[in-house]
Amino acid sequence: MTSKLTIAIVGAGPAGLAAALLLNRDGHRVTLFERFEEPKPLGSGLILQPTGLTVLQHLGLLEEILALGARIDRLYGADARTGRTVLDVRYDAIAGGRFGLAVHRAALFGVLHRAVLRAGILVETGMEISDIDAGGESAALIGEHGRRIGPFDLVVDASGTRSVLRRRADASCEPRPLAYGALWASLGWRDGFDLRGLLQRYDRASVMIGVLPIGRPEPEADPMAAFFWSLKPADAEPVRAAGIDAWKDRLVSLWPECRAFTDQIDGFEQLVLARYGHHTLMRPAGRRLAVIGDAAHATSPQLGQGANMALLDATALAHALRAHSSLDNALEDYVRARRLHVRVFQALSWMFTPFYQSDSVLLPFLRDRLVATVAKIPPAPRLLASMVAGTLVDPFAASGLEEVDWQLLASTQSAHARSTSAWSTA
Ligand SMILES: Cc1cc2nc3c(=O)[nH]c(=O)nc-3n(C[C@H](O)[C@H](O)[C@H](O)COP(=O)(O)OP(=O)(O)OC[C@H]3O[C@@H](n4cnc5c(N)ncnc54)[C@H](O)[C@@H]3O)c2cc1C
Repeated sequence: MTSKLTIAIVGAGPAGLAAALLLNRDGHRVTLFERFEEPKPLGSGLILQPTGLTVLQHLGLLEEILALGARIDRLYGADARTGRTVLDVRYDAIAGGRFGLAVHRAALFGVLHRAVLRAGILVETGMEISDIDAGGESAALIGEHGRRIGPFDLVVDASGTRSVLRRRADASCEPRPLAYGALWASLGWRDGFDLRGLLQRYDRASVMIGVLPIGRPEPEADPMAAFFWSLKPADAEPVRAAGIDAWKDRLVSLWPECRAFTDQIDGFEQLVLARYGHHTLMRPAGRRLAVIGDAAHATSPQLGQGANMALLDATALAHALRAHSSLDNALEDYVRARRLHVRVFQALSWMFTPFYQSDSVLLPFLRDRLVATVAKIPPAPRLLASMVAGTLVDPFAASGLEEVDWQLLASTQSAHARSTSAWSTA
């Protein structure tokens, strides 16, 4: 194991919070720097896959997040005009009892942030970090007005997709903006939709509407749904100018049941426009620097892996630091541990996204006719299930993780918490 290090982590998203917990647990002196005055999550909901849930179990936080989230067994999509099934992926296509857990971002943030506070980890807020100086025997962060903060043995860049620090690992890697993003809202859950599934409707690849149950942001809150609609950021202004009612009418004409959600929207200020970009650092490490999470690799959320990969990165980094006495060797090991998994999933996301979000006419045609049929023929259902679960390439061994025993979990959950958690009662 490396000697106890003084570590700065930049960014209090899922990657930074998980890294802080894991590195603090191993005895390193950790300080977390976040630009917001109050650490807070942005956006709506996301799906924690068996990979991310395994990391949360490793952190001792699985029960807490299960009590807030909504268990997801199936991802289902249909053509809005014909009703034809286009996508039907079920976690149980692989035996073992896996599932996803859809959560409000505030739930995941809250569970990790509370654990950071309980562990007594120092969190410096209102700190916008603009650079790293790792030229000497140690590293320093550069804050506002060129203020130097440090020294540190190691800096962990967990500052997300718009990281300005990752250039210290790879100056050539800039995110490529994707043509499509989406409008997202967190709304009250309404009956009549699948409580255990992500439901989507498509019209070619230019329209995608989604409803995802996301449980509760906090224990006392009412159950919620994430509701989204594909949109090119370039078209956002004309859509706004046409007015909220025109947008709602269009949506309801494609998926009438959605009125249950559009009725909760009175103006565009209730919707957040998410822009997507795609990049993968070839070597997410530099001198006294490890880059994790979206700072190292980001993509569209089509495969629902980003937060899960961020949690896996944090675990792999902590594992590598435990396994080596030299920091340089540990960083090499971290890069090696995550290489294959990250590259495979980034490539899959790059390949699949245009089938669901693009102006192509050919790709959705192939998706609806060919892919939808092939997807039913073995071993395709198993492959799709492991792609969605994030396990197409083993993500666990290289990070020192053992996957959750889902069947054991199911039996303990039903024994303890059948009455309260959305996970066990849905
Ligand atoms: C609409 C949408 C849906 C998604 N759905 C899913 C899903 O279903 N499943 C899934 O796994 N993933 C999903 N993702 C991706 C997921 O949200 C990200 O992969 C995940 O949040 C990455 O975590 P992170 O900690 O690396 O970065 P972030 O969550 O972006 O956190 C970065 C933190 O760093 C801080 N920061 C940034 N710059 C600085 C600076 N210079 N100084 C100090 N602090 C700084 C920010 O304020 C922020 O708190 C989705 C993303 C979007 C946009």
